[in-house]
Amino acid sequence: MTKELYWKNAYQKNAPATVQSVNNEKFVVLDQSIFYPNGGGQPTDTGKLSHNNEEFNVVFAKKMGKDISLEVDKPGLKEGDSIESKLNWERRFALMRMHTSSHVLAKIIFNETGSLITGNQLETEKSRMDFNVSEFNREISENYIQKANEIIKQNISVSVEFLEREKALQKPDLVRLKDIMPPNLKTWRVVSIGDFDVQADGGTHVKNTSEIGTLKLLKTENKGTENRRIYWNLEP
Ligand SMILES: [Zn+2]
Repeated sequence: MTKELYWKNAYQKNAPATVQSVNNEKFVVLDQSIFYPNGGGQPTDTGKLSHNNEEFNVVFAKKMGKDISLEVDKPGLKEGDSIESKLNWERRFALMRMHTSSHVLAKIIFNETGSLITGNQLETEKSRMDFNVSEFNREISENYIQKANEIIKQNISVSVEFLEREKALQKPDLVRLKDIMPPNLKTWRVVSIGDFDVQADGGTHVKNTSEIGTLKLLKTENKGTENRRIYWNLEP
């Protein structure tokens, strides 16, 4: 079982760890991980593990049951090895900014249309979000982006807390998730952007919306009658 260090502190860039197991020479499980595993629309972290002055590049992180499996670029690590892990912080921070920006945008779209997000994929350079609405065009999308930027400019604190399921379901924004969250999940990780937005979420986020920068609309697409897609990026 790997402890998810990125859940409590998304800003932790280094950590010591112990190798728990190695599969096929290149898939390493540590006792604790600063590397976020690909999932929930947020792509994998990358970085390095060092052991006895030798460096192993982490090229992919994947959740495997309760473990996080790190794919490294060469064999050599063994069970019991003490290592130092180092995050590719530039990539992670870009993804944190994107992730928080996606929550602001999703909430604006919900406020404007009542539509929930049906899919999203974050990347360091550009991200996309899907939702269902009948009325849609470039101008409407520009309006969502502008409203999201107005929220971001208010320098709102972002917080992460772990709530018992019953407590989480007392929040009106979270009660909507009642049927999609696994019923056996007793504790929910809840990400709040001040009083503006609250979501059950496993991703990594900035501490304050001031770190996001400015959203810029790149492209809009019609994927079906009501299935819409927005692409955006962030300017510093
Ligand atoms: Zn999220």
